[in-house]
Amino acid sequence: MAAYEYETHEYDVVVVGAGGAGLRATLGMAEQGLRTANVTKVFPTRSHTVAAQGGIAASLGNMGPDSWQWHMYDTVKGSDWLGDTDAMEYLAREAPKAVYELEHYGVPFSRTEEGKIYQRPFGGHTTEFGDGPPVQRTCAAADRTGHAILHTLYGQSLKHNAEFYIEYFAIDLIMGEDGAVQGVLCWKLDDGTFHLFSAKTVVLATGGYGRAYFSATSAHTCTGDGGGMVARAGLPLQDMEFVQFHPTGIYGAGCLITEGARGEGGYLTNAEGERFMERYAPHYKDLAPRDYVSRCMTMEIREGRGVGANGDHIHLNLSHLPPEALAERLPGISESAAIFAGVDVTKEPIPVLPTVHYNMGGIPTNYWGEALNPTADDPNAVVPGLMAVGEAGCASVHGANRLGSNSLIDLVVFGRAAAIRAGQVIEAGKPNAPVNKASLDKAFDRFDGLRHATGNVPTAELRLEMQRTMQEDAAVFRTSDTLAQGVEKMTAIAAKLDDLHVTDRSLIWNTDLMETLELTNLMPNALATITGAEARHESRGAHAHEDFPTRDDENWRVHTISRIDGNKVELSHRPVVLDPLTTESDGGISLEKIAPKARTF
Ligand SMILES: Cc1cc2nc3c(=O)[nH]c(=O)nc-3n(C[C@H](O)[C@H](O)[C@H](O)COP(=O)(O)OP(=O)(O)OC[C@H]3O[C@@H](n4cnc5c(N)ncnc54)[C@H](O)[C@@H]3O)c2cc1C
Repeated sequence: MAAYEYETHEYDVVVVGAGGAGLRATLGMAEQGLRTANVTKVFPTRSHTVAAQGGIAASLGNMGPDSWQWHMYDTVKGSDWLGDTDAMEYLAREAPKAVYELEHYGVPFSRTEEGKIYQRPFGGHTTEFGDGPPVQRTCAAADRTGHAILHTLYGQSLKHNAEFYIEYFAIDLIMGEDGAVQGVLCWKLDDGTFHLFSAKTVVLATGGYGRAYFSATSAHTCTGDGGGMVARAGLPLQDMEFVQFHPTGIYGAGCLITEGARGEGGYLTNAEGERFMERYAPHYKDLAPRDYVSRCMTMEIREGRGVGANGDHIHLNLSHLPPEALAERLPGISESAAIFAGVDVTKEPIPVLPTVHYNMGGIPTNYWGEALNPTADDPNAVVPGLMAVGEAGCASVHGANRLGSNSLIDLVVFGRAAAIRAGQVIEAGKPNAPVNKASLDKAFDRFDGLRHATGNVPTAELRLEMQRTMQEDAAVFRTSDTLAQGVEKMTAIAAKLDDLHVTDRSLIWNTDLMETLELTNLMPNALATITGAEARHESRGAHAHEDFPTRDDENWRVHTISRIDGNKVELSHRPVVLDPLTTESDGGISLEKIAPKARTF
């Protein structure tokens, strides 16, 4: 058994992650009078949320009529009828409150002439339950909305008594013998010490796992650590096969050009200079949801109408927009296009390609952020002591496809909900149960095994192999053949985790070891993604299966639950929550209105 010294810290709540979701939860928990710690592997304002550009959805109605019921309808339709109805209602209904709260905390939103929060159009956001024209629902701080939100939330968290543990890497959850989560073991990256955080509730707000793929808009830190910890604790992940490709990653670099660029009037063209989205989506055109636009772009390229010497990408045109509008509303992406594509957006189109952007799947939760461990008797059984919020979680509001600007709102609405719930269920200040020593030893043993790994495969090599396989076999278009081949390859790749080679054995700033821990987290996420994709014999949202091109509500309107053990994934299902929280007579939305129908644009 590995013998490491460690320091113990006792809290009511430990939040892992200081992105938008983690900070909103931390702030709320502290406000509830709970002793709250926040543990984060990067400085809070370097979390990936800082890169969010386009904005945050809420039906404020500042730029024309809007209602939360319309927002809910669009989210239901956007999810391709896989989202949980209660959670989607909660999101849309609470969104305006959460945005005004951000405004009062100090987020510097862009303004309308009358001084109200500026809102822009975004894909899939409409009026009159999808029958009316697009709505301007996405609240923006120029094209740096995530930056503005993250900095404001960090400032607010510091104002309360939350304590931050910065550049602490969470290794594993500590599980009680009764299956309750008791805390988390962390490694302090700059001095090599270990810290056991004991808590009544651990909140995982660790973000997505975009880096399981070769080309992603997400930061290199988006390695699905929460999902990895959950899988090792014997708990499940949900709907992992749904991976969003953003239509406009910069060709070659992968950096994002926000959908706000099309919201402000930008459009896509093929090699013939045709605005092809008018053909595929006569009503929504370039502002159809992301899964659909990505698929149309891929189709154009496959049919030989891609641009460039190899005909392998598409053009995004902004040069017809007034230069002042570009400078005021889209300054960040104008800069990115110049740096990463050498393009002056006022004169030339930007070369773009669908790029991995968001993970709809994650740790299953209810709409209070409480993690679920479905059983045969109770599909909504709660895991004692565990919550998950933000991209790491799956509430599920995005179902099979997330609408643009619905993630930032998900972070703050559910970060806030988790804090409200924790305030109700946690007895503040009560001593914590003693930590299960066996679980702690297991976490240290795993760490020590990786630290001294003397196998044949360097971490960077295995990571690249995983990323290329996922990019090839679990991308926008999927067939039975590519998926079956992908599962086989990924199973073999995951087995090589036992043959890793780590060169640096020190404990201080050992990036080799940290990236190895991250790889052991990426792998179960990737494996669950491709296995779930192979098993789902239909096309829904971001999962477009060429051999099963239509949606099959009779057999497949269910969540995929995956339990991962080493390189094996066991799949089962959990029913979708169909009932909203309120009925039509309470001012809610009728079941008839949100009944599944063909998703046309
Ligand atoms: C380029 C880009 C632009 C986007 N634009 C928009 C937009 O305009 N609108 C919108 O709605 N959505 C947008 N999204 C999506 C949205 O920004 C993300 O889904 C969201 O920010 C995720 O927030 P989060 O709080 O869940 O996680 P993150 O912001 O990714 O934060 C994760 C946190 O977890 C911590 N962490 C992770 N693992 C560990 C560990 N092992 N130990 C300790 N700490 C750990 C990290 O330090 C970090 O603090 C965009 C995404 C990208 C990539």
